[in-house]
Amino acid sequence: MRAATGFWGSEMGKVTGFLEIDRADRRYAPASDRIRHYREFVLPLSEEATRNQAARCMNCGIPYCHIGCPVNNQIPDWNDLVYRADWREAARCMNCGIPYCHIGCPVNNQIPDWNDLAYRGDWAEAARNLLSTNNFPEVTGRVCPAPCEASCTLNIQDTPVTIKTIECAIIDRAFAEGWIKPEPSFRRTDKKIAVVGSGPAGLACAQQLARAGHDVHVYEKNAKAGGLLRYGIPDFKLEKRHVDRRIKQMEAEGVTFHYNAHAGVTVSGQSLVDEYDAIALAGGAESSRNLTVPGRDLDGVHFAMDFLPQQNRRVSKEPIGTNASIVAAGKRVVVIGGGDTGSDCIGTSIRQGALKVTQLEIMPMPPKLEDKMLTWPNWPLKLRTSSSHEEGAERDFAVNTIAFEGDNGAVTGLRCVRIDEKMKPIEGSEFTLPADLVLLAMGFVSPVKEGLLTELGVSLDPRGNVLADTRKYASSKSKVFACGDMRRGQSLVVWAIREGRQCAAAIDEDLMGSTVLPR
Ligand SMILES: Cc1cc2nc3c(=O)[nH]c(=O)nc-3n(C[C@H](O)[C@H](O)[C@H](O)COP(=O)(O)OP(=O)(O)OC[C@H]3O[C@@H](n4cnc5c(N)ncnc54)[C@H](O)[C@@H]3O)c2cc1C
Ligand code: SF4
Repeated sequence: MRAATGFWGSEMGKVTGFLEIDRADRRYAPASDRIRHYREFVLPLSEEATRNQAARCMNCGIPYCHIGCPVNNQIPDWNDLVYRADWREAARCMNCGIPYCHIGCPVNNQIPDWNDLAYRGDWAEAARNLLSTNNFPEVTGRVCPAPCEASCTLNIQDTPVTIKTIECAIIDRAFAEGWIKPEPSFRRTDKKIAVVGSGPAGLACAQQLARAGHDVHVYEKNAKAGGLLRYGIPDFKLEKRHVDRRIKQMEAEGVTFHYNAHAGVTVSGQSLVDEYDAIALAGGAESSRNLTVPGRDLDGVHFAMDFLPQQNRRVSKEPIGTNASIVAAGKRVVVIGGGDTGSDCIGTSIRQGALKVTQLEIMPMPPKLEDKMLTWPNWPLKLRTSSSHEEGAERDFAVNTIAFEGDNGAVTGLRCVRIDEKMKPIEGSEFTLPADLVLLAMGFVSPVKEGLLTELGVSLDPRGNVLADTRKYASSKSKVFACGDMRRGQSLVVWAIREGRQCAAAIDEDLMGSTVLPR
């Protein structure tokens, strides 16, 4: 069969793959086994199966899965609209030739190209291609929600190419073969750059800048690097060996890590401004959204981020910190909030031996299936069932918590009310849900302002994030840049990596007059 030439000029090895080969993805180890430990439980596909799945990619005429906006239009604004599932409003903003171009892979992974390389068995070239756009594909290959798969043309019939699985297979193979080595720069500039925060944004930014020859110093308030990769996302989704391996690589590339260094608290912001040629703020969005209802102060009502990091620290045998230990064993747990963080609270509570786990969501239950004609190639609003949900949580939707009830200072239950489509309480629908542990997982409102941001005096946007655009990533203060959740607000790992890379390119250009780093 003659190979087909796709939109990007590359030839696909198996033109009829999508017709001949059914979608098959990685499976999970049985829930009854996996809840006994904190290790990853996704079972990789065999090499042959991965190659076959890669062959399903047809390099479609418009590879929505990875096209970026050709003119760098105001992508964050659109994303905001898209997150609110307001497709028509989002569409009104678009005047470029290829609609929906902002959707798909935020780091613009060249998916059809590496699908074809994987199909042909050229894993080394596939890894080189993948790493040219993504610093940490072993992370996104495990925890990315894969907006690329929603955008895949084959998703119109609910069988998208297993892009995330193939990405993970490529990079895991590259590590196993020993192809991933430090890539120190062959040139040295005389520029010193401080990166505050070692989450995916800070790490991607630091790695790119070090590879451009700069002397890069990462300041991290915690004892280890990784941000939410290390202390937020549980080990059963992302084992910390993946983070440790990258930190070693970055140290060998010349990045210096300063741990237990809290900028704006133990290290003054002014000293950073004085010592460095540029500062990248990548401190995340760490202010949790609170639920200020009567009983909030009762023992047993905690933010998710007081609970989850403790378990990650237990797994890696780190001290859990100064807060009292929070454990779900033997308790009736209620998780308030239906996102990733809520799911992680469920999986962790079940592994700790919770009696029962219930998750409450204030929004109504979304449809089980999306209407493709309305949503594709965008990220659809639909009911998503995570591996943690499958492990035994009950879910309830359109429920508002109006108070916590307690006895002797400890929480005993939640007073709840059902709400209608206008978010108004439904009369007579109040009920009490018994609980010994309540975890608030309702998202994050902004970065922490006290300390570094206040000291530096950077301007904030209306949502309280550091104000900086996505071309220059420059804050209102000279020499100070911002990226990741600290700039865009609570988001995803893949967006943090994208922003870290782009911020590095912007800093390099600002310091050197031009840049060799990709945006
Ligand atoms: C529980 C949980 C689960 C998640 N699961 C997923 C998932 O499955 N998939 C996904 O794509 N996304 C997930 N996310 C979102 C994702 O983790 C974040 O969007 C991403 O980590 C943001 O990266 P970042 O580098 O901007 O910030 P962060 O990862 O938050 O890193 C910020 C770092 O800065 C440090 N820091 C802050 N201020 C200072 C200071 N003043 N001085 C020194 N250091 C400082 C912090 O200690 C931290 O290490 C999850 C988030 C949470 C909370
Ligand atoms: S990083 Fe995420 S969106 Fe991009 S290819 Fe990987 S799974 Fe898809």
